[in-house]
Amino acid sequence: MLELTILGSAGSHPGVGRACSGYLVRNDGTALLLDAGNGSTANLQRLVAYRDLDAIVISHRHVDHCIDLIGAFYALRFDPEVGRRIPLYAAAEVHGLLTGLLSSDTAMAFDEVFDHHEVAAGDHLEVDGLSLRFAASVHVAPTVSTRIEAAGRSLVYSGDSAGGPDLVELARGADLLLCEATWAGDPADHPPGVHLTGTGAGEIARAAGVGRLVLTHLAGATDRAQVLAEASAAFGGPTDLAEDLHTYLLV
Ligand SMILES: [Zn+2]
Ligand SMILES: [Zn+2]
Repeated sequence: MLELTILGSAGSHPGVGRACSGYLVRNDGTALLLDAGNGSTANLQRLVAYRDLDAIVISHRHVDHCIDLIGAFYALRFDPEVGRRIPLYAAAEVHGLLTGLLSSDTAMAFDEVFDHHEVAAGDHLEVDGLSLRFAASVHVAPTVSTRIEAAGRSLVYSGDSAGGPDLVELARGADLLLCEATWAGDPADHPPGVHLTGTGAGEIARAAGVGRLVLTHLAGATDRAQVLAEASAAFGGPTDLAEDLHTYLLV
């Protein structure tokens, strides 16, 4: 059974008791970590040890999506029971950012801990029964949106995104769309090409015909109730705000 657990749902910086972007996808004993933002791996370890991850996917190089891989690196490096490299599928510039934060001798060990592969739009890969597909996201750094399918179910994670037709196509008919909704109100009041509003996320969900919309990455100053109301009105289907440690069962 395909499962999605929210490990962190805050946008840009941790909130009060709320970690940054991190999502655990599980299916029949397979565990995949989708993004590793600030604090999200504290929640991950309640459920899955680092060494038991089958793969990690990182949507882009912004620290609220990848910085906890530094901690994961140290944990795995000194864990005598790992016995293998953990596959890491990351958008362009993630590897450079993370290794740049380590001293030069330690940076070389990064590739002994992680089996890094850069991913981009159009890539497709299989991780122990999970089928993954990537699309280009509209954002200010190279970013992928990810579709994951298993057991006849599908979920799509926008990554940070200003929306657009590629995200709609990737999300077409998905059972669950985990979509960023950083802001509320009129999109014209926010810089273009960076993030979505609640209305924007709802419009993506409606155009793609998804079964459920889960809103994440709300900025700290964003009115959560307003985002939910706007997205729900634009989508017209089941809409939730992501909450840390909540699990969705896709049955
Ligand atoms: Zn972000
Ligand atoms: Zn970002």
